[in-house]
Amino acid sequence: HNHIDNATPELVHAAIAAGDTHHKMPDYEGFEAYRAGGGYAELARLRADGDWEQVQDQVLASGLRGLGGAGFPSGKKWGFVRANPGPRYLAVNGDEGEPGTFKDRYYLERTPHLFLEGMLIAAWAVEAETCFIYMRDEYPAVLEILATEIAALEAAGIVEPGYIDLRRGAGAYICGEESAMIESIEGKRGLPRHRPPFVAQVGVFGRPTLVHNVETLKWVARIVREGSEILSSVTHNGRTGLRSYSVSGRVAAPGMYLLPAGSTIVDIIDAAGGMAEGHAFKAYQPGGPSSGVLPASLDDVPLDFDTLQPHGTFIGSAAVVVLSDQDRVRDAALNMLRFFEAESCGQCTPCRVGCEKAVKLMQAETWDQGLLEDLSQAMVDASICGLGQAAPNPIRLTMKHFADEI
Ligand code: SF4
Repeated sequence: HNHIDNATPELVHAAIAAGDTHHKMPDYEGFEAYRAGGGYAELARLRADGDWEQVQDQVLASGLRGLGGAGFPSGKKWGFVRANPGPRYLAVNGDEGEPGTFKDRYYLERTPHLFLEGMLIAAWAVEAETCFIYMRDEYPAVLEILATEIAALEAAGIVEPGYIDLRRGAGAYICGEESAMIESIEGKRGLPRHRPPFVAQVGVFGRPTLVHNVETLKWVARIVREGSEILSSVTHNGRTGLRSYSVSGRVAAPGMYLLPAGSTIVDIIDAAGGMAEGHAFKAYQPGGPSSGVLPASLDDVPLDFDTLQPHGTFIGSAAVVVLSDQDRVRDAALNMLRFFEAESCGQCTPCRVGCEKAVKLMQAETWDQGLLEDLSQAMVDASICGLGQAAPNPIRLTMKHFADEI
C-alpha cells in the first residue's frame, strides 16, 4: 500500500475492486509500517532544524494547489497565516461532501499517515497550536482509522495528547465550505461567514487558521520526502501535475484514478475502462454538481484548474460523472438544483429562495429561459458563498448546450 499513488490506473482500480465496503475495516498502512518505510523522519528533521520558508519554496515549486475545490496555491497560504500573530491553528477539511467525490476517503483508507505527516509538517510550518480534523461522519472506517492512528502518534511521542483534535461532521454539505466548517468546529450552526476577514486572519475561535484539504496535505508529505518534481515533472496537454479524479456514472470501471492534470474526459473514460456496455458517451460533469454538465463535443479540454473557465465552469474537486445516451441532462441538472435547495444553509435570500424557484422552473415541460437566466444572475451576484454563486452553473450550461431537451 505504501506507494499506491504511483500505481497505474489499472492497478488502482484493481485495488478498489479488491477493497472493502462499509462492512469491514480496510487493510491500510498503519503507524509501524509507515514508520518502517521512513515515515515521520522528515517531520523529525524539520522540527529539529528545518527552515519553514525552504519547505514553502518546495511546495510552491511543485505547483501544488488546494485540492478541496478552490485551487489556491498551497504554499502561499502558509505565508498569509504566519503573517498574523499567534496562537494559530490548523483545520483540515475532511468533509468531502461534494457528490461524486471520494478521493480523500480513498487515500485515508489506504495511507492515513501520509496525510497525518503532511498535516504535522504544515502545522510545524505555521506553528499551529492545535490541529483540528473535521471529518465526514459518513466515513465510519476513516474515523476509526484516524482515532487509532492518532492514538499511536501520541503513544510514540510524536504529538502531545490532544494536539490533534478529531471532530465529526454531521452530514451538512455546507460545512465543507471553510468558514462554515470553522463555525461548526466552534460548536455553532454551520453558516458561511462574510469575507473579509479571511480565515487566515480570523479563523477557529478568532485565531489565524490554516485550512487545507486532506489530499493537499498528503501531497505535502510526499513533496517533502520525494521532492517537488513528483508533481512538477508530470506534464500533459500543457498542464503540470497530477489530479485525483473520482470517476462515476456510465463507465465500465468507476473508481479513483490518479492521472496527469491535463487529462481530458477521453483520457479519463479510457482509464475507467471505457463506457459501460450499451452506453454511448453523451455528456459529463467535470467537477461536482456545482460545475454543471458539459457536452461530449467538449472532449478535448484538459480537466484542470483554470482550463474550464472559458466554458463557464471549473474543475472543483474533480468529481467526474459520465452521462450516456440513456440519460437526460435536464434531469441531471434538476437533480443538482434539488441538492442545492436541500443543502442551502438558508441565511441569504438569493440562494435560499433562488434554489427553490429554480427547481420549480426546471420542472416545467418547457423551461422559461429568460426567467431562469435572470434568477441565475441574481444568485451569482448576491449569494454570500460558493454554494449559491455556483448553483446556477447546471442551469446555464444546460440552456447553452442541451437546448433541445428543455
Ligand atoms: Fe447559505 Fe446559500 Fe447563502 Fe451560502 S449562498 S450562505 S449556502 S444561503
